[in-house]
Amino acid sequence: MSDYQHHWKDGTPVHLPLGKIVCIGRNYAEHARELNNPVPDEPLLFIKPSTAAVHITRPLDFPRNQGAVHFETELAVLIGRPLTNASTSEVEAAILGFGLALDLTLRDVQSKLKDKGQPWERAKGFDGACPLSPFVAADKLPRDNIHFTLDIDGQRQQTGDSRDMLNPIVLLIAHMSSQFTLQPGDVVLTGTPKGVGPLVSGQTLSLELEDVLFVETTVV
Ligand code: ZN
Repeated sequence: MSDYQHHWKDGTPVHLPLGKIVCIGRNYAEHARELNNPVPDEPLLFIKPSTAAVHITRPLDFPRNQGAVHFETELAVLIGRPLTNASTSEVEAAILGFGLALDLTLRDVQSKLKDKGQPWERAKGFDGACPLSPFVAADKLPRDNIHFTLDIDGQRQQTGDSRDMLNPIVLLIAHMSSQFTLQPGDVVLTGTPKGVGPLVSGQTLSLELEDVLFVETTVV
């Protein structure tokens, strides 16, 4: 059972419940290419359940007998107001915070599901599949040029910048809200840049968001 609760960077709790985690596949062209996937002509959305969320600093654990588990480092957006068919200005006003997430993925399971044209939940929704960092207030960062990195055991593994997103943050969230309502406390994951790979026991992962957030975790 997840006892996850949103926090700000200074450790104070965010008094909003996590309802759902709405994600996009293939929001960076170079990541779509590295997995030999076409770039979709409309956003490829999926949802992780709230039970997938864990604090990122807790050692990462995941199913061990279903093939490779890949890390995907993603910019996470904390939603602060209800959004239904939202305009871009309504989305702007609803962005409460930014953080970092790992969209952990059972890659071999996902490949089989993709081959069969089946939904991805088995690969993306397991307990612990969404480690989340604390959040920083949205006004600390620009919208269109947010830089983040992942190092594993001291080696740079992923570098992301929101300006490389095929669907920029605000338009992406507006689109999501045209498909289903986003609630205060929901989290949006904005896709991974290239450089994904398998987690291996004992690795140390260091994630950095601009110069405002740094978190470190290990693999069980
Ligand atoms: Zn992802």
